[in-house]
Amino acid sequence: MAFPAPGLPARVRIHEVGARDGLQNEKTTVPTDVKVELIRRLAAAGLTSIEATSFVHPRWVPQLADAEELFPQVRDVAAEVPVLVPNERGLDRALALGARRIAVFGSATETFAAKNLNRTVDGLLAMFAPVVARAKAEGVHVRGYLSMCFGDPWEGPVPLARAVEVAGALMDLGCDELSLGDTIGVATPGHVRALLTALNERGVATSALGVHFHDTYGQALANTLAALQHGVSTVDASAGGLGGCPYAESATGNLATEDLVWMLHGLGIETGVDLDRLIATSVWLSGHLGRPSPSRTVRALSPQEQ
Ligand code: MG
Repeated sequence: MAFPAPGLPARVRIHEVGARDGLQNEKTTVPTDVKVELIRRLAAAGLTSIEATSFVHPRWVPQLADAEELFPQVRDVAAEVPVLVPNERGLDRALALGARRIAVFGSATETFAAKNLNRTVDGLLAMFAPVVARAKAEGVHVRGYLSMCFGDPWEGPVPLARAVEVAGALMDLGCDELSLGDTIGVATPGHVRALLTALNERGVATSALGVHFHDTYGQALANTLAALQHGVSTVDASAGGLGGCPYAESATGNLATEDLVWMLHGLGIETGVDLDRLIATSVWLSGHLGRPSPSRTVRALSPQEQ
């Protein structure tokens, strides 16, 4: 039974990141055929936007080194299958395989950009400029990710003005949408609302914004609700909570798609997702990863398998 609350979107587009953001942060490298089946199962469970892989150099992310082999096998599933591209070389590889939606991955902070992306923030923006321009010229949809929007493991809290500045710069490159990442999970609902408001004041429309929360401090759903109340209707999540947080060994990482779906359906918000099929997918994948899903909803609804 659903109990709708006022002021929320009627429908939410869930951007499923488990196969890319999730698996790239798992210790285990999953075989290609398992990834293909994962993406097909996610589509069959009703997810309509499934980030499939990353065309990053295999040396950087060995878990996703099979992008060339994987992508042609999932290109035609009944869902959008965006891929991450780090630079023009990655774009070339993605376009050669027929990718129609790409994503670039930036950082609001210099330390994360330097340590994880090997560039300055301005260097990243300069690297993305021709990627976005060429993609747009080809009619390819571009999502920008902005990581460390709220806090950074080395720098601490990130000033609103800083997040807004880099977010605005990414949108000015021509991105169609922007996903605001709370990469270490430190955001709280008022902070979310403040950042969204500040972005609107910078001229970024709420309809172009998605949110990407991590549950490290147990705030992911509260933050999601704050974003929905602001009018956001694109929410990133990872099936089964795939992808531990690389900055905190014992903590959970990405918001689990099942936990998100439980809340959205409880609010009467349409997602198109069949929760039972999604849970069955996460339980099946847990068998391949050798560990139970950290999703509360998966655990609650499949105690015998977990
Ligand atoms: Mg993430």
